[in-house]
Amino acid sequence: MIVLNLLCRHDHRFEGWFASVDVFERQQQDGMVACPVCNSDEVSRLPSGPRVISSGRDVAAGESQAAVQAELLEALKAHVRDSENVGQRFPEEARKIHYREAPARNIRGVASLDETKDLLDEGIFVLPLPVPPSDETH
Ligand SMILES: [Zn+2]
Repeated sequence: MIVLNLLCRHDHRFEGWFASVDVFERQQQDGMVACPVCNSDEVSRLPSGPRVISSGRDVAAGESQAAVQAELLEALKAHVRDSENVGQRFPEEARKIHYREAPARNIRGVASLDETKDLLDEGIFVLPLPVPPSDETH
């Protein structure tokens, strides 16, 4: 799993997570990579090199992709477990935290595409998770 810094034609910078650079290039050619802010699929890679996601250590070249993905999934699950589930109040809570009206903490919840766009427009960082975690603990 790698993180690429991407730029759409409206100068929105965002990060995209891909299995590999090849996968990104294929999806880019197919118009499947879209800006989360304006939905433009005219997306280019910023020159910075890809960052490999790992939990606190560098992933040695040659380490199997499956191991890296499993590790990423574990990290995501841990993040979700440690966050407070605010459900439908997610946009409201994210905004309160951003404007320091509520204590800073990790939250998760539900937001529509429009709500997510509004939050991003206000400079509030939200990370859409592709798959809901299967082992809910709350
Ligand atoms: Zn954009």
